[in-house]
This record gives sequence, structure tokens and C-alpha cells, in this order.
Amino acid sequence: MAAPARQEWSMSDFEIGKHIGGGKFGKVYLAREKQSGYVVALKVIYKEKLEKYGFHDHLRREIKIQQALDHPNVLRLFTWFHDEDRVVLVLEYAARGELYKVLQTAGRFTERTAATYVASLADALAYCHKKHVIHRDIKLENLLLDIKGQIKIADFGWAVQSNAKRHTFCGTIDYLAPEMIKGTGHDRAVDNWALGILCYEFLYGSPPFQVEDLENTLRRILRMDLTFPSTPYVSSGAKDLISKLLVKDSSKRLSLEDVMKHPWIKKNAGPSGSCIKQREVKKAKFI
Ligand code: AMP
Repeated sequence: MAAPARQEWSMSDFEIGKHIGGGKFGKVYLAREKQSGYVVALKVIYKEKLEKYGFHDHLRREIKIQQALDHPNVLRLFTWFHDEDRVVLVLEYAARGELYKVLQTAGRFTERTAATYVASLADALAYCHKKHVIHRDIKLENLLLDIKGQIKIADFGWAVQSNAKRHTFCGTIDYLAPEMIKGTGHDRAVDNWALGILCYEFLYGSPPFQVEDLENTLRRILRMDLTFPSTPYVSSGAKDLISKLLVKDSSKRLSLEDVMKHPWIKKNAGPSGSCIKQREVKKAKFI
């Protein structure tokens, strides 16, 4: 692995707080950097697990990509360090946690909330794509909220930095674009597709092609079996945006710039990135 930004970071630089989450490879803790008092999330990954699952290269790529991204709607990876047993990622703390849980509690979001999130995500993804980064696993479970309720794209484990068509099968069933299922090669337009799935999910509470079994979900995606349940809560403008993102031909999907200019977004989205200044000040203190 390339050397971390400041070689001498170690666990002793942090006061470790509560356990806030866990995954296949390790645990996430709330922590405070002792000198600056800056609150962060520490993702502690056990080397033994990395080895067991052959995930070293995966993590190396994730770190390289996420560390180079700096956007208000992308979870910051400030730095990382390692000791004998662990690799530790020092991440921006997203105090309001997983969007998945918020949607579960709410059932569905209002058009204002959904449009605000979609606009923020479109802006963040456009930023990533400009840097030739494709996320490839945009889904509810990979979105976090900070203390102000700003959405943050997290988990760049499947991301790739490339201009060429890719062929690795990746992503999560409900969000898979048709070209990913067919294995004909994919590009950044898979993120636009996933944004369409998310917009639908925000407004209806579940993704559009979801059925009990996996094979039928895939079949529905390939058949483009997209229906909009009748409800007074979802306007024709929202359906228009979703229909322009969930387009089988990836080259005809609405661009992210056009998502931000779409009339439904213009009408409904609230301000995004309003706390950038404060965030920049805090960041400067930590690094
Ligand atoms: P992960 O292993 O990345 O899937 O993280 C497991 C869980 O930890 C997530 O589902 C979140 O609930 C929590 N988590 C991870 N990173 C953060 C963060 N930066 N801020 C707040 N919670 C986090």
C-alpha cells in the first residue's frame, strides 16, 4: 500500500468512542482526534479478514479513489494508517447515519426531500465522473447523512477510475443496469441508472423492479418492466425524470447535468452544500 498522508498516525492519536457499525471486514467507531478535537469515524479493518477474502487490492483501490475526492456530498476519507493487525480509515463522521434507516422509518420521502437528495447525488456523481471515477454501487445502503442532513456517498469499494468500458460484474441486484446484467460492457451511465432507481425508491419506498426472487428481478430489469403505482404523492414531473434515467440504451440516459436542470428538480430541490464553508474550516484543523 502507498504510504499514508502522515506516516505517524496511530490509534493513540484518537479517543475512541462508541461502536457505530460493523461490516464483513471490521468495525466502525466514533472517535475524536486528540489534538484538534475533531470528531471522525474510524473504520477498523482486520488484515486477517482482508487476507481471507483476498480484498487487499480492492481496499487499496477504494482508498486511492476516495482519498482523492473532495465534494460536500461525498464522504471524506481524510487519511488512513495501519499497524500489525489492522488498517484504519479516518472518515468524515455522518452523524445521522444510514439513509436506508431514515427511509424505512418514513416509508417514503416527500418530493422536496427526494428532489434535494437526487440533486445532491447528481452533483456528486458528476464531480466523480469528471475525475473518471464510476461508483458502480450507488444504492440506499451506501448513503449516509451528516449532522445537517446532507447526503453523503460512502463506500467506494466497487468504484473504478477509468475511461474505457468495464466488464467486471458488480453492484447490487435491485440497482443493476441492463448492460451490467447482460455483461456487454458498462461505463459511467450505470451510476445514472442507479440514480433513477434511487429517485423511484425515495418516492415510493421500494425500488421499481423488486420482486421476491432474484431471477425475476433481473428479468423485469431486462424487460424494462417499469410501472408507476398510482398515488397522489408522486407528480408527473418526478415520473418524467425517472423515465429519462431508467432508459435501456445507456447512451440515451439523461446526463447528470440535465438531471440538475430538470424542471422537477428545479421546482422541488432545496439548497445543497450549504455548509461547505464550515466544513472546510474544520477539515483544515484536522489535517
Ligand atoms: P461499512 O462497514 O462501511 O458498511 O459500515 C458499517 C456501518 O457503520 C454503516 O452501515 C453505518 O451505519 C456506519 N458507518 C460507517 N461509516 C460511517 C461514518 N463515516 N459515519 C457514520 N456512520 C458510519
